[in-house]
Amino acid sequence: MKAVIAQIDHNALIHNVKTIKAMVPDSHIAAVVKANAYGHGLLTVADTLQPYVGAFAVARLDEALSLRERGISRDIILLEGFFEDSDINTISHHNFLTVIHDIEQVDAIERAEVAKPIRCWMKIDIGMHRLGASYDQISEMKYRLENCRNVKHPLGLISHLSVADTPSESEYNCEQIDRFIKVSRDFKGDLCLANSAGILKWPASHTKWVRPGIILYGISPFEDKVGSDFGLKPVMTLRSSLIAVRKVKKGAKVGYGAAWTAPVDTVIGIAAVGYGDGYPRTAPTGTPVWVNGRIAGSVGHVCMDMMFVDLGPQASDRVGSEVVLWGSEVPVEKVAKLCGTIPYELVCHIMPRVKVSNLCT
Ligand SMILES: *Cc1c(COP(=O)(O)O)cnc(C)c1O
Repeated sequence: MKAVIAQIDHNALIHNVKTIKAMVPDSHIAAVVKANAYGHGLLTVADTLQPYVGAFAVARLDEALSLRERGISRDIILLEGFFEDSDINTISHHNFLTVIHDIEQVDAIERAEVAKPIRCWMKIDIGMHRLGASYDQISEMKYRLENCRNVKHPLGLISHLSVADTPSESEYNCEQIDRFIKVSRDFKGDLCLANSAGILKWPASHTKWVRPGIILYGISPFEDKVGSDFGLKPVMTLRSSLIAVRKVKKGAKVGYGAAWTAPVDTVIGIAAVGYGDGYPRTAPTGTPVWVNGRIAGSVGHVCMDMMFVDLGPQASDRVGSEVVLWGSEVPVEKVAKLCGTIPYELVCHIMPRVKVSNLCT
């Protein structure tokens, strides 16, 4: 009998990166591996992807350092730049590529004393209002960076699409792409715009570099689609097993808060997985769970270490029977939707106690 494991299928990862390459034949891929490669394991994912991608993109300096320590030699992009002045020397030393999104970062780079000039992509805000130079700051930031001896030339340009995955905001998305393309005419360095949704849906956003995250892991960025709709394969399968199987009578109150009452005599399976592993407590009764080759539904509240599955009155499942919470058998996109969240959050939230099993051939 197995406790919960996150099985990571590296063949699926290779299949996905090759599928993405075919979608953007003229672009280089910066594989987004922030947040422990969306819960899939930063270092093992990077090892597998390295031969297929031009760069890796991360959100924190520590993530970049872990990749270098592992021996990853590809370019590494810091999507949020540096947070402290002292990071600038680390960036120079390891030849990381940093995003500069704020005028205070420009001040810091000008003040710094670096051994080698650092590679920078200036970030502009084209409509998300999260990070990036606003319109009235672009020329000043660009001028100062281009005239700074600590910055390697030419300067690149990066931005992020806020509604590429939102069908009702198509027009706003097109405006954002247009803004990027207009500003990019003044930049001689590399350009980088598309996220996963941009790659799948907006060819105009395919600049020299693209930044796929969620689709590398075989997951759709669109709420109404699953990865397989785009020829992608899920990389993570969250598996566990039943540690108890019990008959309950009609009217039996199941779990904390008596949140579910059996409508008929039935058989309940207790699966060894809960929110302490990263399975969402918000999963409502009826969330699909694969058990022994069929789809059953969860019932009651998810506990920290266990959850309840209604196996049905005729169930012949035994203790030890295999359970899949998401993966090829149950799309994580569907589970996320039922939980009122996005699949990104579910895979990111896999807890350290979940054993990882890497499948490779
Ligand atoms: C996380 C992130 C991405 C990847 O987004 P996906 O939707 O997973 O493809 C791209 N760019 C930036 C700036 C990000 O923060």
